[in-house]
Amino acid sequence: MTNTSGPIILGIEGTAWNLSAAIVDYNDVITETTATYSPPTGGIHPREASQHHADHIGSVITKVFLEADGKGINPSDIDAVAFSQGPGLGPCLRTVATAARALSLSLDIPLIGVNHCIAHIEVGRWKTDAVDPVVLYVSGANSQVLAYRKGRYRVFGETLDIGIGNALDKFARGAGLLHPGGPRIEELAKGATSYIHLPYVVKGMDFSFTGMSTAASNALQSSLLEDVCYSLQENAFAMLVEVTERAVAHTGKDEVLLAGGVGANMRLQEMLKIMCRERGIKFYAPERRFMGDNGTMIAYLGLIMYQHHTFTSISQSHAWPNYRPDDTPVTWRQD
Ligand code: AMP
Ligand code: MG
Repeated sequence: MTNTSGPIILGIEGTAWNLSAAIVDYNDVITETTATYSPPTGGIHPREASQHHADHIGSVITKVFLEADGKGINPSDIDAVAFSQGPGLGPCLRTVATAARALSLSLDIPLIGVNHCIAHIEVGRWKTDAVDPVVLYVSGANSQVLAYRKGRYRVFGETLDIGIGNALDKFARGAGLLHPGGPRIEELAKGATSYIHLPYVVKGMDFSFTGMSTAASNALQSSLLEDVCYSLQENAFAMLVEVTERAVAHTGKDEVLLAGGVGANMRLQEMLKIMCRERGIKFYAPERRFMGDNGTMIAYLGLIMYQHHTFTSISQSHAWPNYRPDDTPVTWRQD
């Protein structure tokens, strides 16, 4: 066997469009394989995405086992199988949970159902120097500002309607751009020459994106696509940074960690960096491969939970589409 240390965990992610499996130990990622569902037209259809996952789960698991074998790790060396139990699209979650149960039973190892949002946070803490950050988690379906306090990751602010990624993707679809729209909007925004006013909706610590996305679509009738893309980013990211800054002020924490697929956006990173610099606090963003949905983050959170003897029985392993991060007791951190 190669130089592994402590438990070895297999993790499976498949809450939405990425089906990804990874094997990790405490030191690093041993292997990861991903099969991405890309809709031929339109956005993610839950039934089609779950069919994609069902079609590819066998080959994805076979590939991670083969690659692990090449590094001297056999299926019998794996200590537990972790899977993303929620939040996510019900049909996709069921496919992944079924595969995880089957692997747990056939390898005779414990099952660990993990919260997808917390997995994003923990992989960020693993892969950066962040210790106790305020987290801005921005993905397709989720947008939340979180921080650890008294045994839970508390949600300080969140979207009142759709996630920022979905808002960007929805606007992009209407503008005739391919899915996922976020990266295309980022590219187009670089060619802008003017800012267009769009609704800026922050209510207390929460934000809302549907009105802004619709207004941006309407603005296309009279403005250049580049200008609308730029304004959409500036507006939405300012809302996210405002709430993140307020959470920093409330909690007194001195770190900000960025998580989720939208975190790959360099303009969002730049705006957060400016806010952190002005407040004299540290900003962290993990490598891009750990930002979007990935099997590694599920395996890594599984590893931490394994070390703290937190397992999921088969009868508790149901798909949990609206599983919130604050539903989970964080047994692995101290106040
Ligand atoms: P996730 O759900 O975490 O895998 O993230 C997927 C979302 O990230 C999609 O809505 C994408 O449009 C969005 N995304 C990916 N890259 C970028 C980018 N560079 N800028 C903005 N959004 C992005
Ligand atoms: Mg995600």
